[in-house]
Amino acid sequence: MPQKKPIPELKHLDHVLVSETAIKSRVTALAEQINKAYRGKDLTVIAIVNGAIIFTADLLRQMRSPLRLDCIRASSYHSGTAATGKPVIIDNLKLDIAGHDVLLVDDILDTGNTLSAVRELLVAKGAKSVRTCVLLDKKARRVVPFEAEYVGFEIPNEFVVGYGLDFNEHYRNIPCIGVLKRKYYAGGI
Ligand code: 5GP
Ligand code: MG
Repeated sequence: MPQKKPIPELKHLDHVLVSETAIKSRVTALAEQINKAYRGKDLTVIAIVNGAIIFTADLLRQMRSPLRLDCIRASSYHSGTAATGKPVIIDNLKLDIAGHDVLLVDDILDTGNTLSAVRELLVAKGAKSVRTCVLLDKKARRVVPFEAEYVGFEIPNEFVVGYGLDFNEHYRNIPCIGVLKRKYYAGGI
């Protein structure tokens, strides 16, 4: 019997919080829920990049309506694993969303600052409705009241990487959600 080789990326993780398999089946369930909710509607999906890139790509391939896709860039001032202050939103949306049903997609709902600011912006641009879909929700960290309509997994208050989430722009490519080993923080990647 050939021995199973370990996945090289996983050596960076202290432990896996959400496996690749668990993500796959949860994304399928979320897509089904969203397909039902927006059946027959002209949906516009707005992904918050870079974090939501991988989640959005997987989710959209399971969505059945001829939807439109655009991206918006938002970043908190980060120093290592701590976000400080208000998010900076770079609005370079190409699509006109006035009068349209919008689904906002992000990787993680943490303090709620980013999603509430982006949602406010989309409402100000005249969106008919704005719902939110996040892969992860750290409820314990909320600073502003915000709930997402579609949530993949509620997770504890730990800094996670993978499946689009980064540590100093690294590790977005890891196929699962994991907690980074301390020694990879210490070096300041
Ligand atoms: P907010 O605090 O505004 O809800 O979340 C802002 C952003 O912080 C998220 O979109 C995400 O990019 C980042 N963030 C929050 N928690 C984590 C985490 O545990 N890991 C990583 N990599 N990013 C996080
Ligand atoms: Mg983000």
